Amino acid sequence: MSDFQRLEFQAIMKARKLIRDIGVSSVPIDLEPFATAANARIKIVHDLNDDESGQTTQIKGKHVIIVNGNHREERQWFTVLHEIAHIVLELPSKHQGPKLRTDTLMRYGRRPQEEMLCDVFAAECLLPYDLFSKDVSDTEISLAAVKDLAQRYKASLTTTGSRFAVNANEPCAFVLSEAGHIRYVSRSKYLNEIKGWIDFNISLPKGSVAFRLTQDSSKTEDYDELASDVWFNGGIKSRPMLAEEAILLREWDQCLSLIWFDQSLERSDQRSDYDDEAEPLLEELDGNLPWPSKRRRR
Ligand SMILES: [Zn+2]
Repeated sequence: MSDFQRLEFQAIMKARKLIRDIGVSSVPIDLEPFATAANARIKIVHDLNDDESGQTTQIKGKHVIIVNGNHREERQWFTVLHEIAHIVLELPSKHQGPKLRTDTLMRYGRRPQEEMLCDVFAAECLLPYDLFSKDVSDTEISLAAVKDLAQRYKASLTTTGSRFAVNANEPCAFVLSEAGHIRYVSRSKYLNEIKGWIDFNISLPKGSVAFRLTQDSSKTEDYDELASDVWFNGGIKSRPMLAEEAILLREWDQCLSLIWFDQSLERSDQRSDYDDEAEPLLEELDGNLPWPSKRRRR
């Protein structure tokens, strides 16, 4: 596990502890108890510039989180939780100056580690593991499902999509690209098991749905079934075909892809069973954790 993964894991654990302490049992979550737990007050203002998401100041020993009320609600919520993360995780703000710029929050290029950890914490609070993982396992993989969950949890498509893939019960990946470059990848453990790696900081693969969308200004969303070697070097032997559904977020020059394998693509593929008793806390950490194979044939 890299140092960052260790810190990411700690941030997730702190978020889950807070969720348990507060006793979150329904979604969308209520922000007030999170603020109270961080000794903070939320103040919505309408006179910030559009490129400012918010900032935190101290008044009489209490944190005051100021948030831009002109932004979409889901963005306001993320801003508030990101600021709460700075307080709870005791991570200094690495924004340029005290203000949290929208650009900083939405861009994936090089971001300071502290800022990424605060985003991880915020995502975990918005999508509480127990509730979210159940909702994901109750639904078929699709962009429509991600959109539906994003609305219910008041989270962005990006946040929801990245956690959706991690929690999926099939081999599934979520890829965020920016200006045609892959910037962020999250994967389900089932994708790790079949060794479905996707590199980042490289260009989008030419045959991908995401690449085609970035080249064609007439569409913002598309779905296709592709050979698995489009996304996975050398392909995946047992899974020759994959499904990809992608959506452009023109505002940020970003494209989100959901990539998965399912039984309808592989009718001849033998169904296999998975053991669901993996450690639930570790279960959803993305990436390079050494997963013992839980696969067993019927
Ligand atoms: Zn920050």
